[in-house]
Amino acid sequence: MSRSAHPAGPRHADVLPEGHYTAPPTDLNALDPKVWAQTVTRTPDGVVTVGGMEVTKLAEEFGTPAYFIDETDFRARARAWRTAFGHDADVFYAGKAFLSRAVVRWLHEEGLNLDVCSGGELSTALSAGMPADRIAFHGNNKSTDEITKAIESGVGRIVLDSFQEIVRVAHIAESLGKRQRVQIRVTVGVEAHTHEFIATAHEDQKFGIALADGQAAEAVRRALALDGLELVGIHSHIGSQIFDMAGFEVAARRVVKLLAEVRDEHGVELPEIDLGGGLGIAYTSEDDPREPHEIAKALSEIVTRECEAARLGTPRISVEPGRAIVGPTAFTLYEVGTIKPLDGLRTYVSVDGGMSDNIRTALYDAEYSVALVSRVSDAEPMLARVVGKHCESGDIVVRDAFLPADLAPGDLIAVPATGAYCRSMASNYNHALRPPVVAVRDGEARTIVRRETEEDLLRLDVG
Ligand SMILES: *Cc1c(COP(=O)(O)O)cnc(C)c1O
Repeated sequence: MSRSAHPAGPRHADVLPEGHYTAPPTDLNALDPKVWAQTVTRTPDGVVTVGGMEVTKLAEEFGTPAYFIDETDFRARARAWRTAFGHDADVFYAGKAFLSRAVVRWLHEEGLNLDVCSGGELSTALSAGMPADRIAFHGNNKSTDEITKAIESGVGRIVLDSFQEIVRVAHIAESLGKRQRVQIRVTVGVEAHTHEFIATAHEDQKFGIALADGQAAEAVRRALALDGLELVGIHSHIGSQIFDMAGFEVAARRVVKLLAEVRDEHGVELPEIDLGGGLGIAYTSEDDPREPHEIAKALSEIVTRECEAARLGTPRISVEPGRAIVGPTAFTLYEVGTIKPLDGLRTYVSVDGGMSDNIRTALYDAEYSVALVSRVSDAEPMLARVVGKHCESGDIVVRDAFLPADLAPGDLIAVPATGAYCRSMASNYNHALRPPVVAVRDGEARTIVRRETEEDLLRLDVG
């Protein structure tokens, strides 16, 4: 089965992906807790509920398509990360996975910090009361305005991504009469995706400054020399949807080696090391993600061991999970529209959303699960492909899925694990109205991001 998390573009093959499990699941009505949010369950009469609310009622009240986020689960996951890393480490939620003001408040209340990578994300965070010193600002091409705003508002750190930015941030900080805490993002020559990592000599990508050829060491030299900067650490982010800790191990070893070189050259022990995010979640029952406490233990052991070997004090570790916190906490609810059985191939099930609310399948060949949620069914499993309503044949939500053969227009189906990189990457393609995000908790549902309206679309179109 395809597990590439990197650009592959839409595939149009009419055969099952290689190695795909062709056997349908034994129980089509089952909801695997690995892929569904914590409070999701089925009532005795077969309707799926989240936070004690039936999806049929939710669809009536909020319409479809819509994202429903299990607030209890979100808070529990945020807390689990926080607790796992304890007081000697910091957890920065990667806002790009999904950010709204409600989410910022939950994070604040649960004691997490926040990564942003644009002026818009920064504004959202500040407007919801996240203390600026708990915000880190990322990005490979921050604008002067963004840098100015970040420094003026007092963000806890800016992660420097290029030689030009070292000078730019220093200059802006000095002109504002400030000294900005910064980290330098390095590329460690490790690329990790899903179950594999590749150690490469050179990083052919846009982020960070290469450790290779002494470039990162030179960046440290320059940053230390500038009055506007307080260099506090080194940052590395190696990929996404990672299950294997080996990539982090190599990354940590290489970053610690740089810390030792910095100490030898400048007599400075940089106090922080950030190992980024990228921890995987279960999109299907085949995926086996690790628990936060296992990850925390593994990372802290790796860093401690490497630092001992280099005779360095252990720096303060930080991590930046996005997907691993919000991904599993939400599902997208769709209404089934047209159903097209293609003899000998599969049945195309069209829903009222598509690539405008979930681009990940088209963009990364991502895999998802799907279930009939408005009722149970005893019908035979049918090999299906869940597709959207957009004018594009790559508009696929779930490439290979089994749904009951009696599926009918008007049924509700839900795609779990859509909390990360779905609403945040949603588009208006075909002038689709981006769906709302509804938070559900203890028998109550409330919109935290409302559905777009045609008025919203027309407001931007000034004629
Ligand atoms: C995207 C990103 C993250 C979060 O990645 P997830 O896969 O959502 O955990 C963390 N840090 C940086 C720098 C990123 O770019």
